[in-house]
Amino acid sequence: MATQQGRHFLHIPGPSPIPDRVLRAMDMPIIDHRSAEFARLGKTVLEGCKAVFKTAQPVVIYPSSGTGAWEAAIVNTLSSGDTVLMAETGHFATLWRQIAARFGINVDFIPGDWRRGADPAAIEARLVADKARAIKAVMVVHNETSTGSTSRIAEIRKAIDAAGHPALFMVDTISSLASVDYRHDEWQVDVTVSGSQKGLMLPPGLSFNAISEKAMAASKTNKLPRSYWDWQEMVKINANGFFPYTPATNLLYGLREALAMLQEEGLDTVFSRHQRLAAATRAAVKAWGLEVLCENPAEQSPVLTAVMMPPSHSADRYRKITLEKYNISLGSGLGKVADKVFRIGHLGECNELMLLGALSGVEMGLAAAGVPHRSGGVMAAMAALEARDDGNQASVAAVA
Ligand SMILES: *Cc1c(COP(=O)(O)O)cnc(C)c1O
Repeated sequence: MATQQGRHFLHIPGPSPIPDRVLRAMDMPIIDHRSAEFARLGKTVLEGCKAVFKTAQPVVIYPSSGTGAWEAAIVNTLSSGDTVLMAETGHFATLWRQIAARFGINVDFIPGDWRRGADPAAIEARLVADKARAIKAVMVVHNETSTGSTSRIAEIRKAIDAAGHPALFMVDTISSLASVDYRHDEWQVDVTVSGSQKGLMLPPGLSFNAISEKAMAASKTNKLPRSYWDWQEMVKINANGFFPYTPATNLLYGLREALAMLQEEGLDTVFSRHQRLAAATRAAVKAWGLEVLCENPAEQSPVLTAVMMPPSHSADRYRKITLEKYNISLGSGLGKVADKVFRIGHLGECNELMLLGALSGVEMGLAAAGVPHRSGGVMAAMAALEARDDGNQASVAAVA
């Protein structure tokens, strides 16, 4: 393989590219994690996180990948033999289900075709039918990173309320937090699970649980054993800005910077930027004559777009050729859709021209790999970006 010049285009849906500002903020000498200086850092990030989760309740930070926070949500609230309700939105929902099963939890897994989000009506029907109130938790993946479908969390909350069901509500926002509108308190979510390497623009290695009072109460009587993941110990020591074990100090420096960047841009601006980039990506896919995996327009993800390969063409072969020729990494198909889709990440540190560069690579890659398609996807994306840039409307109209 020839040496490649310039920046690698990392367009997988996480880990996402890390802003230079965050890289510089982490390039610091390690400090004593029991010092007053550390306590200031700890307090700043523990408080700062709350704005992103939209909560006034505790958020705990683990030195782990997102999978650890999945496990923490389960072991702090449930007991083996409990029943939970989950929805098969894709590969990540399937993995979370597996973890629950390993702890002896019975999972009622509402089947799905991997082309849409979780169905609030189906969840409501299951809860209404549960007269004995055996279901202890409803667990949903907000943004299903394997398919590019986003579940409607506010509507699922309404479904739980309409059924008058007391189940806990747990949501995986590992790939949606800080990219898609999310409201832990307003939507009365009991445990929100998240991770550092997607919308938060950090390296992998931090994970989060935002915890409601109801979830905290459940953690005082549930039976699953835990030590490392235990909330009580964590929350008690966090109150002074410290952690019960050595924290990932330099990642916390990065988190402090990322939170400042999100605050400067404004969360609503961040969310609309993601929507704009996603809409432009879908315009390109349509112009290529290819199909987006998520069938429901209302649930198409602002974070990534999964593109279906034409039958008998290998998505993995296409990604390999595109990487070698154009130095761009695209996401692979996972689980049931392995080799059938490729995924374009447009989350976190991403803007119009970065996206257009990536889409150029995707389009040239389609030609290089001999995948049947029409050209003009990048032009369609440009047109979509121009149409959605409110500041440009007047000048485009004037020229026309
Ligand atoms: C990335 C991701 C995970 C897994 O997180 P890790 O950090 O790889 O452990 C879980 N759920 C979703 C929705 C994800 O996008």
